[in-house]
Amino acid sequence: MTTDFYNLLLTDCALALILLGLFLYVSRVARGVRGIGSWGVGHFLYSLGAAMLDGTAQQLERAGSETATVVVAALGGMLACAGLAVLTGSIIKFVQQRPLTRIEWALVPAFAALSLLAWLAGDAIDGQGAAMSLAELAMLGVMFWQFRQLDVPPLRVPARLVMLGGAVIAYLYGRDLLQALTGQYGPNDAWINVDLSTWYLINFCMLMLTSFRAAESLRQTAMLDPLTGTLNRRGLFARLDPELEKLTRDSHLAVIALDLDHFKRVNDRYGHDIGDLVLQKLSDTIRAQTREHDVFARTGGEEFVIVVTGPEARNAQHLAERIRTALATMRLDAPAPPVRITASLGVALSNRQVPLSMLMRGADEALYTAKRAGRDCVVTHTL
Ligand code: GH3
Ligand code: MG
Ligand code: MG
Repeated sequence: MTTDFYNLLLTDCALALILLGLFLYVSRVARGVRGIGSWGVGHFLYSLGAAMLDGTAQQLERAGSETATVVVAALGGMLACAGLAVLTGSIIKFVQQRPLTRIEWALVPAFAALSLLAWLAGDAIDGQGAAMSLAELAMLGVMFWQFRQLDVPPLRVPARLVMLGGAVIAYLYGRDLLQALTGQYGPNDAWINVDLSTWYLINFCMLMLTSFRAAESLRQTAMLDPLTGTLNRRGLFARLDPELEKLTRDSHLAVIALDLDHFKRVNDRYGHDIGDLVLQKLSDTIRAQTREHDVFARTGGEEFVIVVTGPEARNAQHLAERIRTALATMRLDAPAPPVRITASLGVALSNRQVPLSMLMRGADEALYTAKRAGRDCVVTHTL
């Protein structure tokens, strides 16, 4: 082993420590993005363990310190395997954006057991080398499996780069494993640069993916109304936009516009907080009446829109009537006062292909007619 090789491993550890700080910082500022802090922890433990096993232990072996070699190799192998387990868990958390299940948590002892088994099996460096290479290949297998799912722009390009990097190092670690199993595990000066540079690339892509994920979560939040959790006006059009052309070609489309009757009086009589509660309860009530692919949005203070697609659009008037009845009988839960509310609804339907914007206007006009007709009713305009 050359001194250069040893120095490279030390530099890599120092970089992993700096990256750990950076990943923890990023996980704090990109709140809501799971898995990036644990990625930093796993990467640091793995780099430290690998440097001990591939560097320090082999230096000690050459110096003839047998006991120290065994201890450092075992400790290094154990740290590296634990780090790889944390990395594997963080990949699942990062891609799925959920906490780990109990079975997934079991990866940590399973990976650590590889290192323990190697310790019991005999030769410290070859045994730990085999355990670490196996754990590396298992982690890369999970990485491939998970990153395949990041298949939408802008995540796709950095995710594919991570997979490409993973393929390169899987080849190197596969060779390591073969060498360990034939009792020849040792440093390979020729490819250490490829290994470390590939890890730099993977870490860089992880940072890029995190910033894309954080931006996406902000974008999603900007489309929701914070009070009721429904889509807001921006969300309504963003949700409909990709389907708009198809929707316009499809005559199975209806729009229902809803406005609460004399809502100012509710605020004046019971206060704004109770008014807010009414809006929340009303959203739950409407959601319970609609199907999952109907698009429901709060487009103004106490104004809502429901876009009904598919054959059910023909029955939009019945849906509107059901909603009206459900709202008229809706009451706030105690201890809130049992506020009574009613709503006026306008429905726009068409038997031919008309643009969505025309249906929206039609529904608004029908709603206006319902208000003038005395409120608490449904008016339908067929365009
Ligand atoms: P109309 O039957 O003609 O619709 O009468 P209205 O009193 O409902 O009149 P309008 O639709 O013009 O007024 C809407 C009122 O809704 C005004 C405002 O006080 C109330 N409002 C709008 N947004 C909110 C909100 O987020 N929370 C509460 N509590 N009230 C709101
Ligand atoms: Mg109103
Ligand atoms: Mg209004």
